[in-house]
Amino acid sequence: MNCENCRECLRDATTHGGWPVLATRMVVCPTCGNKRCPHATNHELACTGSNDRGQPGSDYQ
Ligand SMILES: [Zn+2]
Ligand SMILES: [Zn+2]
Repeated sequence: MNCENCRECLRDATTHGGWPVLATRMVVCPTCGNKRCPHATNHELACTGSNDRGQPGSDYQ
């Protein structure tokens, strides 16, 4: 399933202009709004409600 709202689902997506979506858009967790929340990287990971560094599964360390 592609939620089109997490980094995992947008990794291969491009805009109409041909740019990688991840280069043009900052993806944040739809629940807590934090970019370092693991749920922002992959919708299958639970939302932690945290923007701390080093969270398992997050692209942002
Ligand atoms: Zn997703
Ligand atoms: Zn979250």
